[in-house]
Amino acid sequence: MQHIALLGASGSIGRQTLDVCRRHADKVKLVAIAVNSSLEFAISCAREFDLSYVVISDASLASSVPLDAFPAETEVIFGSEHLAELCELPEVDCVVNALVGAVGISAGYAALRCGKRLAYANKESIVIGGDLLMPLAAPGQLIPVDSEHSAIFQCLAGEPADSIYKIWLTCSGGPFFGRSRAELAQVTAADALAHPTWLMGDKITIDSATLMNKGLEVIEAHHLFAVPIDTIDVIIHRQSKIHSMVEFSDGSVKANLCAADMRMPIQYALSYPDRWEASCEHLDWHDEAPLAFARVDEEAFGCLALARAAGRTGGTAPCVMNAANEVANQAFRDGRCTFLDIEAIVSSVMGSVDTAPVESLEQLAEVDASARAAAAALLGA
Ligand code: MG
Repeated sequence: MQHIALLGASGSIGRQTLDVCRRHADKVKLVAIAVNSSLEFAISCAREFDLSYVVISDASLASSVPLDAFPAETEVIFGSEHLAELCELPEVDCVVNALVGAVGISAGYAALRCGKRLAYANKESIVIGGDLLMPLAAPGQLIPVDSEHSAIFQCLAGEPADSIYKIWLTCSGGPFFGRSRAELAQVTAADALAHPTWLMGDKITIDSATLMNKGLEVIEAHHLFAVPIDTIDVIIHRQSKIHSMVEFSDGSVKANLCAADMRMPIQYALSYPDRWEASCEHLDWHDEAPLAFARVDEEAFGCLALARAAGRTGGTAPCVMNAANEVANQAFRDGRCTFLDIEAIVSSVMGSVDTAPVESLEQLAEVDASARAAAAALLGA
């Protein structure tokens, strides 16, 4: 029995992780969750899974929470500073980090340092802190949950590390695939939130529309698989049936295919190196349309090139880029800037904040704060 702490339980990945825990209750036991502010959800989880610990990150809720609504055996803790403590609990074997944004890095760091298995869905923290996190990860300790990276991880199983010729990172293209820059100038957050194939949270759905999500994933793959940025090629595959491919030095290509259902990569991060019975549907490939590919329009979707540039520069450059993007992404969702402003803000902040080699979590927090302030100033906030 594997004992699990789930950070970001009420988000899209978190809820699908709960599905996997229900499906495989004979193999995994959820012992702790963290939510930001979703009280009712936390209470129902504590009851359903007999949780030992619940962290509610929004400490301002401490006075208003009906503690008697939780089971007597559940310890309820307030404040995001306690996220890392959940990762360090001796009764936890595996941490699922499904937090969104740079905030998840200290939890990832704590889990790795304590030798826990880390199922990793918090891509932003790998992007900004890969230089700190990856040296702590023993082989097989950090298992990616991002669908593309799970696919690459599965393709690389049993292959020599120096045999990678190219990683083909597939991209659905997002809701605005095929649109010109003039058309992109007019789109709204509501348009973007209608994603064609994947059911995801709002932040990542906007990142998927700008292709910043793919840019973050290029940097994520660079860290996870120790390959140069330019070994990773992004290719449009609208159907989201191939989840990525690895081309080896001898010309052979391996791809990973399955339904577009995040429960597959989530489950694999828990079952690795074993395979459990599916939590998602088995596809009948007789019924599938021919697999199609297209080239990314990097002129129209400038965020991908910005992310590649940040990844090539390295050091704190991805931290600056990510912080500016988190601020601009939220501003677009709030109707405070246009779709193309996201790219303009990220580009401008990247040009205005100095970068340096990554040294510590404290340094990253300072760089993150400077970049957020610079982005907020551009928004007039
Ligand atoms: Mg992905």
